[in-house]
Amino acid sequence: MTYAITLIPGDGIGPELAEATRGVLEGTGIGFEWDLQQAGEATIATEGTPLPERVIESIRRTGIALKGPITTPVGSGFRSVNVGLRQALDLYANVRPARSMVGVESRYTNVDLVIVRENTEDLYAGIEHRVGPDAAESIKIITRAASQRIARYAFEYSVRNGRSRVTAVHKANIMKLSDGLFLESCQQVAADYAGRIGFEDRIVDNMCMQLVQKPELYDVLVCPNLYGDIVSDLAAGLVGGLGVAPGANIGENAAVFEPVHGSAPKYAGQNKANPTALILSGALMLRHLGETDAAERVETAVREVIAEGITVTSDLGGTAGTREFAAAVAARIHGAS
Ligand code: NAD
Repeated sequence: MTYAITLIPGDGIGPELAEATRGVLEGTGIGFEWDLQQAGEATIATEGTPLPERVIESIRRTGIALKGPITTPVGSGFRSVNVGLRQALDLYANVRPARSMVGVESRYTNVDLVIVRENTEDLYAGIEHRVGPDAAESIKIITRAASQRIARYAFEYSVRNGRSRVTAVHKANIMKLSDGLFLESCQQVAADYAGRIGFEDRIVDNMCMQLVQKPELYDVLVCPNLYGDIVSDLAAGLVGGLGVAPGANIGENAAVFEPVHGSAPKYAGQNKANPTALILSGALMLRHLGETDAAERVETAVREVIAEGITVTSDLGGTAGTREFAAAVAARIHGAS
């Protein structure tokens, strides 16, 4: 089986991370037909936009993109590539796993969370206005359709990936109508999975405290947009931060896999940056494609190379370059297959 994938290398460290990741994914033995699409700073100069329509058309055609980070241009006039992709492709679910790794410094050794964030509405719907010179209003939109859709995604992800429990995160004690509807929608969907996947809910402030104190007690969290944004960064912090945090944006007809970190321009072209987050985003892509065995081989290889601590990049205390780290991971995958 060969998969057609749109590959967007991105800006800054993006191209070298994309090259490294491509080598690792090809090391699984799975066939990829990469449709290379430039976007970001370079295309602003040549095509007048960081997100040319051909990029969106490519993702519509392949259904899947692997994307490096893109520098957000300073100043106005250009839409954000990430927001543009999310809107054009209705990427309604943002998925960010956070798992402790031996060899990555953090306060915990036993975190294994997946944050599933609703990506289209809530206070991020962008409906806000000034009320006179000294006041402003932002409107929080919560619908049953979007809440049920994200809850169902969280449960289905749990079924597919051997997860046992979904926790809905909300503030329904105060926002009884909006967050109340989100919670009610999650409860309705949870009923369809009774006996298979457990369900509980937590008020968001209590959730943050629990995550800091006992993160090992939680499994899959489903959140409205704003809480998901905050809680997923908190979770990334629990496992060692940006360099190792993968992510996915999922829609009905398309999905974009990308690291949480940005383009780190100061490391661009130096073979220094850590490709782990993009490689693990590639593993999420493999899971999405149903290639669970290959995904696990990639994840295991990354974890083993990092745990050994010999061929790791400088952010993890080593001296290896991006390419050397990726080659060590790819070699480990060959060994495991
Ligand atoms: P950044 O994530 O690029 O960098 C933050 C810090 O983390 C820096 O110290 C950087 O050196 C380090 N870092 C990040 N990724 C690393 C890696 N793979 N290996 C080693 N170290 C790494 O965040 P920033 O500096 O705030 O943003 C730079 C640019 O990236 C901005 O233009 C921003 O808008 C953009 N950005 C893009 C995305 C995206 O495309 N999804 C996400 C975040 C930021």
